[in-house]
Amino acid sequence: MVRKHVDGPFVFAVRDIVRHPGEMREFFIDPPAPEKWGEGLVAVAKGEPVEVEVRLESVHEGILASGTVDTEYSGVCGRCLTDIAEGLKVEFQELFAYPGEETSDFEVQDDHVDLETLVRDAIVLSLPFQPVCQPDCPGLDPATGERMTANTGAEQREPLDTRWAALQDYTTDHDDEATRPGVENTEES
Ligand SMILES: [Zn+2]
Repeated sequence: MVRKHVDGPFVFAVRDIVRHPGEMREFFIDPPAPEKWGEGLVAVAKGEPVEVEVRLESVHEGILASGTVDTEYSGVCGRCLTDIAEGLKVEFQELFAYPGEETSDFEVQDDHVDLETLVRDAIVLSLPFQPVCQPDCPGLDPATGERMTANTGAEQREPLDTRWAALQDYTTDHDDEATRPGVENTEES
C-alpha cells in the first residue's frame, strides 16, 4: 500500500483506533503556530506556542476530536493602540469522517487526522473583534492624540485651561512621588 506522507504540527496517527468504535486516545501537544493566525487588531503570532489537549474517539462515522486550545494573542488595543497580549482558551469538537461515509468538513486521511485547520479556525473565530487593553479603556484624547488615563478621563467634566491642565499634571505627579517611598510594593506578581 502506498501511503501519502502526512506531516504537520497538528497531525495525529489514528491507525490503532480507526474502525474500532469505542476506542480513544488522549494527547497533549504544544507546537509553535506555523504562521500568524488572525487578520484583525490582534492575532496569534507565528511561533507562539499553541497548547492542544485533545481526545480522539473512534465512532462509527469516523474519529471524533474534542478538546481545548490554549494560546496567547497579541496586538493593539482598539481604543488607545497600546500593545496588548492576552491568553485565549477555546473548546472544540469536530468529527473527522471516514472518506465517503458522511459529508463533513474534515476527513480521516490515510489513518491520520490533521487538526491544524480546526485549531486555527477555533482560534481565529474567538479573537476579539474590538480588543481593549482594559474594559474601561478611555482611549485617546481627541485633542492631543495622547492616551488618556483614568484620571484625565474623569477630569473632563469641565474644560480646563491648558495651563491648569499642566499644573494639575504636576501636582498629581508630585503627590505620587511623595507617597511612593513609603509604600512597600511586595504584592505585585
Ligand atoms: Zn486601551
